[in-house]
Amino acid sequence: MDEPVLLSALQHFVFCPRQCALIHLEHEWSENAHTTRGQQTHERAHSGQNEARDGVTTLRALPLTSRQHGLTGVSDVVELHAGRPIPVEYKSGRAKPRLADEVQLCAQALCLEEMFDATIPAGFIYHAGSHKRREVPFTPDLRAAVLAVRDGVRDLLRDRVLPPPAADDRCERCSLFDECEPFAPRAFPPGYDPFSTTLEDR
Ligand code: SF4
Repeated sequence: MDEPVLLSALQHFVFCPRQCALIHLEHEWSENAHTTRGQQTHERAHSGQNEARDGVTTLRALPLTSRQHGLTGVSDVVELHAGRPIPVEYKSGRAKPRLADEVQLCAQALCLEEMFDATIPAGFIYHAGSHKRREVPFTPDLRAAVLAVRDGVRDLLRDRVLPPPAADDRCERCSLFDECEPFAPRAFPPGYDPFSTTLEDR
């Protein structure tokens, strides 16, 4: 059986497959302002006690797993409304491009559905900056995207090949910019032979 895929790896893969490989294959990690803020937001979400108020039980840092879908991780917050779990993911900054946050949240829901034998139609992303939560419906397309991304992560970890850099605006906010060197020259173009080319030809 395949190793379960980390929920965080799904988010990294959607954001940038190369970032996912650097973190989960090469075990690179660096902090920048974005990751430090995100870390503090997650720590706040995980701190404090589980509590019950107004009929809602709040569980923090709940370990999540799905044997059926091969996923594992830890939630920020799970709210139990009349026993039905609803995942809430805490985010410090603006929404990540390409539905990275939504995929991570829906993957949590797939775990919770299996753990609680429940159907979860939607969850929430809480934006710490605005103190607002945004509802994310778990549509069939989003659920299918989670499984497709999981397969992409599995292929990446199995093949152990570092994907090419995105080299676009994602890199500006990426904490692994220095390790990745996304704009560094990499390979000579096809047909280019540096030993038979004169300086004038370059
Ligand atoms: S610097 Fe750019 S290409 Fe490199 S890992 Fe980050 S987002 Fe991906």
